[in-house]
Amino acid sequence: MAEHDVMDKLVSLGKRRGFIYQSSEIYGGTGSVWDYGPLGIELKRNVKESWWSRMVHQRDDVEGVDASILMHPRVWEASGHVEGFTDPLVECKSCKLRFREDQLASSECGRKPSMSPGEHGECDLGEARLFNLMFRTFMGPVESEGSVVYLRPETAQGSYVNFLNVQTSSRQKIPFGIAQIGKAFRNEITPGNFIFRTREFEQAEMQFFVEPGTDEEWFDRWLEERQVWHRSLGVKGENLRLHEHGSDELAHYAKKAVDIQYHFPFGWKELEGVHNRTDFDLRRHEEYSGKRLEYIDSGGGKRFVPYVVETAVGVDRTVLMLLADAYREEEVEGESRVVLGFHPRMAPVKAAVFPLVKKDGLPELAHGIVEGLRAAAVPAFYDEAGSIGRRYRRQDEAGTPWCVTVDGQTSEDGTVTIRDRDSLEQTRVESSRVLDWIRDQLEGTG
Ligand code: ATP
Repeated sequence: MAEHDVMDKLVSLGKRRGFIYQSSEIYGGTGSVWDYGPLGIELKRNVKESWWSRMVHQRDDVEGVDASILMHPRVWEASGHVEGFTDPLVECKSCKLRFREDQLASSECGRKPSMSPGEHGECDLGEARLFNLMFRTFMGPVESEGSVVYLRPETAQGSYVNFLNVQTSSRQKIPFGIAQIGKAFRNEITPGNFIFRTREFEQAEMQFFVEPGTDEEWFDRWLEERQVWHRSLGVKGENLRLHEHGSDELAHYAKKAVDIQYHFPFGWKELEGVHNRTDFDLRRHEEYSGKRLEYIDSGGGKRFVPYVVETAVGVDRTVLMLLADAYREEEVEGESRVVLGFHPRMAPVKAAVFPLVKKDGLPELAHGIVEGLRAAAVPAFYDEAGSIGRRYRRQDEAGTPWCVTVDGQTSEDGTVTIRDRDSLEQTRVESSRVLDWIRDQLEGTG
């Protein structure tokens, strides 16, 4: 399948099946922001819950926070965003399209969608000007320079300014981390590739505070740990790789940065960044706030400003990775089908339950199974419409790993069939054991 075909198919499947819609579609859409539908929100929640579980619940050295999106404007002066969070913007004087100068080689320079290749020729680019990516707005009723606030362009600063609050209230000792999942906003010059680069998105970031001198070792540990998480989502190992930033790519605050990249249909791209941010952020906040952000080690009496190892992943990019990795088309039993082969733990719906026919008490039995699964917090779906084959196809497209069918034999011996999405194998299971069977499978899937 050609690369753009896969993306087109994901966009259309996303809309058709309720994963992702264009924002404000009835007004023509916005192009740079997207809405998650009923299946999409479940997929996204599974990503976030998996991250939170591994980064916070399964560790005793990471605490969670949920900081506000609007912060004191001085935060963004201290962080360097007011001065330096810019991209070089260039505009073509002829076609009026705008590009990031540093990405020109990969942009579809000079061609509007309505133009055929070559119709426009070379772009006539103007001078590059630095464009700040932060969204500005005003706090309160007066729109003046004194009331300017920004929509946060990253969640990390909310963790830095709360460093001492969290450390003292949770009685954590260094090394420890602060994790956060939340919205971030960037007025990107060239948003695109579906939910890969948008102007409103969600990040899952963790700031790990360490004693200077131990930062390199912690960097390596976190880089390894983050790759373990990505692999646990079930994506193909050959589609993940690392890219270390050269000195020309390193952000001003970073001592080292390694991207975890995924092989998206449009190429290898950053999914997550692991950064050694040194003591840059805490020192800048000390300077701008006038408050000390030192750690005092009660045991050894040491005082120091910690170094920070950050792991920063995009939730939406992770969702796109899961969709792209899971999408496949294949022939089965002489028919073609579209499958989203999600890892069962990521699948929005775990089981769909069908009565083979709409009579003889089968719908009631099927409803009973659905209710039992739902009561145990296993997302389940009831469907009695259309042939059984069509019902299977609908669930294949939604990525549902198991379909449970209640048939004539159920009323005789109390068993149902469970069909596996990938192997198509059908297993007969006692209907009272469906929940346990599904739990066993979920636990056995690693
Ligand atoms: P890029 O180089 O792709 O612009 P970045 O290096 O600026 O990304 P970070 O500031 O490190 O990104 O943000 C951490 C993560 O947040 C990224 O790895 C990415 O997954 C996600 N992210 C950043 N910008 C966007 C965006 N505009 N849309 C969706 N996700 C984003």
